[in-house]
Amino acid sequence: MSETQPLLSVRNLRKYYGITGGLMGRKVHDVRAVDGVSLDIHPGETLGLVGESGCGKSTTGRCMMRLIEPSAGEIRFNGKDVTKTEGHELRALRRDMQIIFQDPFASLNPRHTVRDIIAEALVIHRLAATRAEREDRVIELLETVGLRPDLRTRFPHEFSGGQRQRIGIARALAVQPKLIVCDEPVSALDVSIQAQVINLLEDLQERFNLTYLFIAHDLSVVEHISDRIAVMYLGRVVEIAPAHDLYRTPQHPYTEALLSAVPIPDPKLKRKRIVLKGELPNPIRPPTGCHFHPRCPIAQPICTKEAPPLTQTNANHHVACHLRVAV
Ligand code: SF4
Repeated sequence: MSETQPLLSVRNLRKYYGITGGLMGRKVHDVRAVDGVSLDIHPGETLGLVGESGCGKSTTGRCMMRLIEPSAGEIRFNGKDVTKTEGHELRALRRDMQIIFQDPFASLNPRHTVRDIIAEALVIHRLAATRAEREDRVIELLETVGLRPDLRTRFPHEFSGGQRQRIGIARALAVQPKLIVCDEPVSALDVSIQAQVINLLEDLQERFNLTYLFIAHDLSVVEHISDRIAVMYLGRVVEIAPAHDLYRTPQHPYTEALLSAVPIPDPKLKRKRIVLKGELPNPIRPPTGCHFHPRCPIAQPICTKEAPPLTQTNANHHVACHLRVAV
């Protein structure tokens, strides 16, 4: 872990959704979307959060910002308890924590011009006193994300996917946040455009000293942008490590399987592909013990009975596996 105090600190975060049934509409099950996640994000770093669709990574990001109410757990941002914050304090926290969505088209109001979309945040947070100040700031923000300011009178449908994502980034930057949750921001884009948006995010991080939680379902996307990477499986973090350690020496069998699917640029190097059995289990009835045991190629009897805790194996590398923890 870094020496600095974390900007965001999450302990034992849970988000359960009740499933009702029967004539009385009583709760019959819980879907454990997030099931005891603990992690820290330090100022200026990028933490990659990776896992298959439905593993709870987006829900984790949204709970951290209180866009979704967590069921339990502690979230501290800049020392403040996010779960107990209300009213104007919560609005101030939301200004410091922004989100960029996977589908920029769905997150941009199609009836508003780009100017209105970006200026809205300035109005809500009273960051520009006059119309002229707002206009100047919109122009500055569009230039910052590499868009021509004269496009500000156009509507979202007049832009390409990559340009729309730049508009989403400009809107997030408008309020000068400290942390941005990037929720699969390049998954819907062509590979060549993905690289441009990732480069832009890296430049902005350096320029504005931003901290990122970068959510993706693919380890190849987060490799270059992340300082550390957390891998999630069925609502739990199963491995967390500095990016270069995780790529060089993955320790959890699930991370090994995810990495085996990542292409290596050097054709002389080959990685053995590990194909996992079955699909991600239903979170309504997660497997007992280690959630990964039905798909794990090295599972042992203990794995069906006891959930392995996230344990430090060497400097800054933590893994949740009974067999991969040094004794
Ligand atoms: Fe596999 Fe067991 Fe480790 Fe889970 S605890 S990853 S089932 S070996």
